[in-house]
Amino acid sequence: MRGLLPITAKNSGILACETCHKLIVCDTVSEKGATCPRCKRAIHVRKKDSLNRTWALLVAALVLYIPANLFPIMTLISFGRESRETILSGIYQLFLSDQWVIAIVVLLASVFVPIFKIAALAFLVISVQMGLTWRPVFRARLYRFVEWIGRWSMIDIFMISVLIALVKLKALATIEAGPGALAFAAVVILTMYASKTFDPRLMWDRLEGEIDE
Ligand SMILES: [Zn+2]
Repeated sequence: MRGLLPITAKNSGILACETCHKLIVCDTVSEKGATCPRCKRAIHVRKKDSLNRTWALLVAALVLYIPANLFPIMTLISFGRESRETILSGIYQLFLSDQWVIAIVVLLASVFVPIFKIAALAFLVISVQMGLTWRPVFRARLYRFVEWIGRWSMIDIFMISVLIALVKLKALATIEAGPGALAFAAVVILTMYASKTFDPRLMWDRLEGEIDE
């Protein structure tokens, strides 16, 4: 079988350090607790417990996405009137006040991007678990896109912090971040870690008939 497989570092008995990229011959390291001889980072042939960890982070992100949307993301107190806005009601308010561009940016960053990321990563993990051979290049591109798009979700948290700073300068109104903002920040961080713990090489391993991790 080995002769039919494409040459990979794994089936050639070599592994690369993820930090300093040094190539290490597997025979020279004992599998458990092995570290890179150059930078001393723990080394693994594939990311450790990649699929389980990605699943755990995705489920946690999905659960926290509920309070992120239900609880107010910010509370605005202006002339004694208090208004609490959730992500969706905030977007609605932005549309009402003709802030179309900001409304669309917030809608994309805080609704579409997190849902898309969770769905895409869940699909990638399931595709690896089921040993799918369907369009691997498309799935590899999807993974790269998920990694690229992730950073834009934080734009929401960034906007809230800028808004708080701006409103505080005026001193006529006060604005505070609500519990929804904390849950939302946790969702973004969890999905960032989920895309980091997923090892895309597992897709190619399944394709090449190597199913051990
Ligand atoms: Zn290293």
